[in-house]
Amino acid sequence: MGPEVTGFYDALKSRRASIEARYRRLTPASARLALDAARVLPGGSTRDTVRRHPYPTYIRSGEGGRLVDADGRRLVDLWFNATTLPLGHADPRVVEAVGACLARGTCFYAPTGLETQLAREICRRLPSAERVRFTNSGTEAVMLAVRLARAFTGRPLVAKFEGSYHGSYDDVSWSVSTPGTGPADAPEPVAASAGLVSAADRVLVLPYNDLGAAVRLLETCARQVAILLVEPIANRMGLVPPGPGFLLGLREITARHRIVLAFDEVISFRLGCHGAQGIAGVTPDLTTLGKLIGGGFPVGAVAGRAEILEVSSPDRPTRVTHAGTFTANPITMTAGTVTLDALTPAVFDELNATGGRVRGELRRIAAGKPLQITGAGSLFKISATGAAMVDHRSSMTCDAKWEELASLELLTEGFFLTTRLHGCLSTATRADDVDRFLAAVERLLSGGTAARQA
Ligand code: PMP
Repeated sequence: MGPEVTGFYDALKSRRASIEARYRRLTPASARLALDAARVLPGGSTRDTVRRHPYPTYIRSGEGGRLVDADGRRLVDLWFNATTLPLGHADPRVVEAVGACLARGTCFYAPTGLETQLAREICRRLPSAERVRFTNSGTEAVMLAVRLARAFTGRPLVAKFEGSYHGSYDDVSWSVSTPGTGPADAPEPVAASAGLVSAADRVLVLPYNDLGAAVRLLETCARQVAILLVEPIANRMGLVPPGPGFLLGLREITARHRIVLAFDEVISFRLGCHGAQGIAGVTPDLTTLGKLIGGGFPVGAVAGRAEILEVSSPDRPTRVTHAGTFTANPITMTAGTVTLDALTPAVFDELNATGGRVRGELRRIAAGKPLQITGAGSLFKISATGAAMVDHRSSMTCDAKWEELASLELLTEGFFLTTRLHGCLSTATRADDVDRFLAAVERLLSGGTAARQA
């Protein structure tokens, strides 16, 4: 990294104290809530991903494209609970349908028919989906997909890409945000958590966007691989898109070796009516879903080929077992159906056009700076690196400290993104909020506001 590049990042970092001081001044109620939390929640947290330095902003309410924090500040939400709410907060259609559902009772030890309705809609949207099984989270969906694939193939290995996050199930918690280890074209599994037993005989880690290496590694042990999990846009890596032919190449190698190909569309299902697979024109065997299909309530699903899903049919003598007290509960199924019904092709077109405008403007603002703008559809990310973001190792060149500080400064300006500057839009995002956000980024990159206002 040249001195010009580090100088660019240092300019913001030199204002750390004043940015943090301004944040503390604006958020005293959040500071108090964080102190309370630390007395009963380990490290003050019960969800790793929402942590922030010096403490998170606590939220009181959300409406449309905006949040109100514990201090009564209005914030423009640009992450919508990790892409979960494409219609924004408290969408009146969802609130009305869920309200009616609440009054009729929230959960029963019996099916309701609402899960059939949502499953039918998912099958209508995803050409690869002939059957659906619901879960309560994306993590559980991935866990079930792995179990189904192991039962279907009789093989043990889960193949995943270095840098991909598929939830917190043990057998996918390898090589996530940890530095790449081993050769770039033959990564070694690195535990993403304490408490994992071993990757041996369970996990194979592949390099994202390196089809040649992925094929070679898969071929060394193809008869042992049950499932290949891939995100059609790699969120944790920094919303890195697959290169041309990458997903198709994975389809070919998995078909050749009877490996179950699973697209993890927990996030990418918000890219269009037929998900990222519809855009790529590649049909996986299984798709894991979550987030938006629950309309703001806990959810997950595995959708895919009948032949594989039927391995979990209660009629089978030897089968994959799967239950869950809250699985397919009426509230989630109702909110999910209302949300999908609202997401028509025309709505997706408009949402994605705004996403395209945001990425385009960010690229213009960031031109000539050591920053990358990635994303697709209604998703975007600003990354502090001069290197093109193509895989986990290039994404690890990001200056995470710069991104975290930039995110904090944007938060003091009233814009809520992840600490690593991932953002997304909803249909409730207002055009004037988008314009103000772009102006705030422009100010941030040209010297910032906190210093002036400190
Ligand atoms: N897969 C992907 C691609 C995800 O992004 C996530 C969560 N962000 C998960 C799985 C896990 O979903 P959940 O948090 O609902 O368990």
